[in-house]
Amino acid sequence: MKKIYFITGSQDLYGEETLKQVAVNSKSIADYIGEELKDIVVIEWKPAVCSSEEIIQVLQGASEDADCIGVITWMHTFSPAKMWIKGLQLLTKPLLHLHTQANERLPYDTIDMDFMNLNQSAHGDREYGFINTRLGISREVVVGYYKNPKVIDNIRNFAEVTRAIAFSKGLRVAMFGNNMREVAVTDGDRVESQIKYGWEVNYYAIGDLVELISQVTDKEVEEKIKEYRSIYEIATDDIAAVEEQAKYEIALDRFLTERGTGAYTDTFQDLYNLKQLPGLASQRLMAKGIGFGAEGDYKTAALNAVLFEMAKHRQGATGFMEDYTYDFADELVLGAHMLEISPAFAATKPKVEVHPLGIGDREPPARLVFDGVQGNGVAVCMTDMGNRFRLIAAEIELVKQPKPMPNLPVARVMWKLKPDFETGAKAWIYAGGGHHTVVSTALNMDHIRLFAKLTGTELIAIDKNTDIMTLQDELEMKNLLARLR
Ligand code: MN
Repeated sequence: MKKIYFITGSQDLYGEETLKQVAVNSKSIADYIGEELKDIVVIEWKPAVCSSEEIIQVLQGASEDADCIGVITWMHTFSPAKMWIKGLQLLTKPLLHLHTQANERLPYDTIDMDFMNLNQSAHGDREYGFINTRLGISREVVVGYYKNPKVIDNIRNFAEVTRAIAFSKGLRVAMFGNNMREVAVTDGDRVESQIKYGWEVNYYAIGDLVELISQVTDKEVEEKIKEYRSIYEIATDDIAAVEEQAKYEIALDRFLTERGTGAYTDTFQDLYNLKQLPGLASQRLMAKGIGFGAEGDYKTAALNAVLFEMAKHRQGATGFMEDYTYDFADELVLGAHMLEISPAFAATKPKVEVHPLGIGDREPPARLVFDGVQGNGVAVCMTDMGNRFRLIAAEIELVKQPKPMPNLPVARVMWKLKPDFETGAKAWIYAGGGHHTVVSTALNMDHIRLFAKLTGTELIAIDKNTDIMTLQDELEMKNLLARLR
């Protein structure tokens, strides 16, 4: 399991006794956090550091340890921050500065100067915070007694985000076909994506996949169909079309696994010898955490995989989505795609259906059709602004669709925008947000903010407080800042 180092700062002016107590206290804090987070990460306690040399050693160690995804630091006592400069300059892992104390309340009856000298994070953490700010380190500061559930929640968010960042650095994306002809927002700088997020985005000929599809055995297909029958309602007589998608699922899975690839794109404009556009196949793979982006949208494919990883230990759905059409009267967005929406969003038992596609000039593809879940969520889009990437994230409320849609042959989700429909849509468009997003009901804006901060990505957040005039000023200011950098 991945680990986060827990490092306590002190100095050697206080004598043996104090340092012994620092060790005991910091160990019990690290153990408490470790127990609370044991489902997602190991908290590895490190002996307190008291000198520049010790700090360099432990932070360089964190940078070099492939299993270490982040570092928590806390100043139990005063730890003069010039000692931290060289070590922090060597740190390449995300940093959380925990501003806490071993004690929650003051021991009014017994407090003396020994107690004061032992428990002085109130000023030790300020000294340490200054040097982080002076060095320009983007870190997360969490404040409060370490047993407070809110503090634990904040540390959990950090662990989830840093897990996703570590995952991102090893992510490979396969592009079957290129970006859809003439489409702007889905395109981007793949070299910069690799420099900034680690994504290795590579093109593969769809013919290579077709070759693998032809090798799928009847027995493998039979097994898949059995599985489909056990979890979905088969609402078609065209079993051959469903079998075709089963082959795609098996072959895609194999292709991606063989290449250690966690996300892919395809495009209906380049299907070579595929009989159908992958529908059911892409939906099923997405539900397993394989990132997907339609029409060659590699950024959304990668973001889908990264946010799925972040959300993995939470309740809720995370997957590719497209703003499709509106109900202006009820002020609702209908999110869907030609085919590819993850069944994680299903509120009803998915039906396997086969319908003509209308575009792409292929046979009618099998797909999963269902109504969407309800609840709070976040919609996230990544755009390439030319001189930097921008994340646009909106808080949304997924709602029950007002009426059945018996003729709509695709999975659909409906949601409300914040703070209201007009402002939410206007803000998204001013920010340059695209029609493809990753929607998650498992993550919230805090996760996206933290991911943006720790990866140095510009974020435009749209939520209940969004005001159009302020947002336009923010956009202008961010354009200016990006030009100065
Ligand atoms: Mn699309």
